[in-house]
Amino acid sequence: MRIIRAAKVLTGRPGEVIPDGEIVIDGASIVSVGPRGSAGDTPGELLDLPGCTVLPGLIDAHVHLGFDAAVDPITRRGQESDHHLLLRMAENARKLVSAGVTTARDLGGRGFLDLVLRDAIEEGLAVGPHLLAATRPITITGGHCWYMGGEADDEPAIRRVARENLRAGADCLKVMASGGQMTPGAPPSWVPQYTTEQIRVVVEEAADRGKGVAAHAHAHAAIRSCVEAGVATIEHCTFFTPRGHRYDPELADLLAAGDSYVCPTVHGAFWRIREVHGQEMLDAWLAGVAAMREAGVRLIAGTDAGFAIGGIANPTDGYVGGLEVFAMAGYSNAQVIELATVLAADACGVGEVTGTLEVGKRADLIAVAGDPLQRLSDLRDLVLVLVSGRSVGQSGVDTVTASVG
Ligand SMILES: [Zn+2]
Repeated sequence: MRIIRAAKVLTGRPGEVIPDGEIVIDGASIVSVGPRGSAGDTPGELLDLPGCTVLPGLIDAHVHLGFDAAVDPITRRGQESDHHLLLRMAENARKLVSAGVTTARDLGGRGFLDLVLRDAIEEGLAVGPHLLAATRPITITGGHCWYMGGEADDEPAIRRVARENLRAGADCLKVMASGGQMTPGAPPSWVPQYTTEQIRVVVEEAADRGKGVAAHAHAHAAIRSCVEAGVATIEHCTFFTPRGHRYDPELADLLAAGDSYVCPTVHGAFWRIREVHGQEMLDAWLAGVAAMREAGVRLIAGTDAGFAIGGIANPTDGYVGGLEVFAMAGYSNAQVIELATVLAADACGVGEVTGTLEVGKRADLIAVAGDPLQRLSDLRDLVLVLVSGRSVGQSGVDTVTASVG
């Protein structure tokens, strides 16, 4: 048994704060949560953290561990061996957990390497968060991210790719409902790639195995199709048109009334991109996030980390920077923590096992110096990171990639 005491425990249940709290962990599981002394005289190793806040581990609902600023997914595609790429992914997973992320959903890569890494982390061979892997995104021939290997143009082909991904062990399916910005020759962001019926096929195939679907959607029509098809999460949701972001209040109302969560892929590279590529587009995007919040759309945290955007790095250890952008969009610190933990866990289909500090759940938690309800940036002052009860904090350890810049 391990007993952790801290000045404050945020259980992750909305608004629940335990001053002078105590958590007891047995192996990988939480066995008691309450005020100091509530576990009685449970024998075990005591970790006393005065001045600290303990909260559920953070969740990144959208990463690509196979990419970072050193890899141009377009020009270098196919040039990096699977062996080398897997090492890169392992390093990006280590960085991710070093930022306090204890669960992450990898929404697209090639070669089923995300499954290899996921299993290696669970075995203790690699350091990282629990991973939920989408494997190859389903996309049209030559469509957005086609080079990841998931091309399918009609219903039978969609079912085949979906079933192959699930057979390989995917935890969820990813579908590219609209085009995007990063694949030369593919449809642009504002063009849908699939019909509502075709997206529904993906949802059906996933649901048959108890899994959910994450759908990449920038275009208005694609966003609408995703809500109608009942995907678990809509990624980006930028309301993109040939003339830039055009927020649509009616579509937002439809989102708020539907069952899908929205992961607007808000990340810490936001300010740098705004500086380099101009205010107008980025401010319109942030205004869209704020408007969705006001409309009651259920937003969750996910950074799209890995992909460098317009030459600007969006590294996997920059997670908290993305949460600060949510705060700019009008969320209180308590709400930001909620969308980074309990809501993200529910959206990713793992709300039964993680996302809150409750008896029976996995001991996925972090402790930070200070109080993130007062200062969100305190989430950077990690003193403890537990993934299924295993301590993985590595503060002060410099990696090769960090030291060579
Ligand atoms: Zn992505």
